[in-house]
Amino acid sequence: MPDSSSTRLPDSPALPEYAVEIRQLEKTYRASGKAPAKHAVKGVDLAIPRGSLFGLLGPNGAGKSTIINIMAGLVLKTAGTVKIWGRDIDREARGARLAIGVVPQELNLDPFFTPRELLDLHAGLYGVPAKERITDRLLSAVGLADKAEAYARTLSGGMRRRLMVAKAMVHSPPVLVLDEPTAGVDIELRQMLWAQVRELNRRGVTVLLTTHYLEEAEELCDTIAIINHGTVVAKDSTANLVRRLDSKALIVHLDRDLAAVPETLSRFQAELPEPRRLVVRYQPSGTNVGDLLGAIRDAGVTIADLTTEQTDLEDIFLQLTRGSHDEELGAGTRERAPVRP
Ligand code: ADP
Ligand code: MG
Repeated sequence: MPDSSSTRLPDSPALPEYAVEIRQLEKTYRASGKAPAKHAVKGVDLAIPRGSLFGLLGPNGAGKSTIINIMAGLVLKTAGTVKIWGRDIDREARGARLAIGVVPQELNLDPFFTPRELLDLHAGLYGVPAKERITDRLLSAVGLADKAEAYARTLSGGMRRRLMVAKAMVHSPPVLVLDEPTAGVDIELRQMLWAQVRELNRRGVTVLLTTHYLEEAEELCDTIAIINHGTVVAKDSTANLVRRLDSKALIVHLDRDLAAVPETLSRFQAELPEPRRLVVRYQPSGTNVGDLLGAIRDAGVTIADLTTEQTDLEDIFLQLTRGSHDEELGAGTRERAPVRP
């Protein structure tokens, strides 16, 4: 795989501190037909350090693709500034475009091209001279060397996705953006894509990926920004964020009714939403589950069944957005989030 030192960008005096710098980005899609106008991106600031493997995490409709498409020059922003590798997308559009490779969310491959033809065509579009093309290197890097001459329509979904990664890299951009690279792909392919993304990043490519899987962001990214309803609600190193979210619930189904949370569990955060259902919240990193189970047994109750529940993206949003609501509502009217079985 090409590394950032082999980038085709015209020389610039100094490497930028940030591979991507987004300031006060706004996007409102205009109303059309019956669809009302949509304020999809609301004052987003993102500074992605050079060399980072950065995750933009958020549920469907959060505004991730809109931001990506603005960076790629496919959607016009309403306001704000975007710099890719130090190049402003308005003032230095060409430089900005050369600095970025985008793997879009939708796979749009022409079924009548072979992988080799497709990569050559794209290299041509970016003005990469035939002699400088890295078609074969790219094909083997994504594990498609033996499919170079196969028609795209004969490739599996996983192969097509890998071909899209190669296509985004034909001009050796220092910044690679992947929009939901593993949405709807099986575990094996996901692992393979992750390995490829890691390898690219190891070679110096700054990677921005969007995902709605917390696990993916956690596994792959060094820094995560969480976006919801067009607003960045959290931005931190993955380690810090995961520590904040280090919360699990142990759901204990009991063989008989309890009137109150047993005394032995007082040092844990326990609730009794139903007479036969005990919910204990704990931090997996700092709790010995054996102690926890011991305390339940010491209460003299018999465990009929046990399930655990990890904090998921939805809970994170609740956690992150709850603070502001609490202030509005006042502590007395606070409602507890329902505990799902
Ligand atoms: P995500 O990629 O996080 O799922 P999107 O950026 O695709 O989110 O969408 C953000 C919001 O903008 C959604 O409410 C979506 O319906 C809306 N939206 C996206 N594209 C368009 C468009 N071309 N016209 C109008 N609204 C759009
Ligand atoms: Mg999207």
